[in-house]
Amino acid sequence: MRKQSEAIFVVQKHSASHLHYDFRLELGEKLKSWALPKGPSMDASEKRLAIQVEDHDLDYASFEGEIPEGHYGAGKVIIWDTGKWTWEEEPHKQLRRGILKFTLHGKRLKGKFNLIRMKEKQWLLIKEKDMESCSGSVTDLHLESVVSGKKIEDI
Ligand code: MN
Repeated sequence: MRKQSEAIFVVQKHSASHLHYDFRLELGEKLKSWALPKGPSMDASEKRLAIQVEDHDLDYASFEGEIPEGHYGAGKVIIWDTGKWTWEEEPHKQLRRGILKFTLHGKRLKGKFNLIRMKEKQWLLIKEKDMESCSGSVTDLHLESVVSGKKIEDI
């Protein structure tokens, strides 16, 4: 595992059969991954369903482009946010317990978040009330890639 100060997160907006956002945290040489049907929120009163999916390879964090027809996840992908993530308690232990508390240092997602396991693969991603939390839809406010400036329809 890298030093925690170097661990990255990425949120990829993915226009597959259903538009969703993929939330990925670098942990132990892999990207722990969750699909967010409604995307992330900066509003501490919102609970966003996060379906845990298979770990992805680290280099997928920089992927933006089109997954061809006939391949898993076919459709367009942009990097909607990325940055470092940090934690206070060892994350593997937190994941096993089903309550992951962490801080995001992205361009759009900032501050404290919790991922809470409801059952099996179903988690909730919840913004914790802090200096960064705010109402309104951050996904409606920001449509373009933080890397290329492209909107998903421009891919
Ligand atoms: Mn996806």
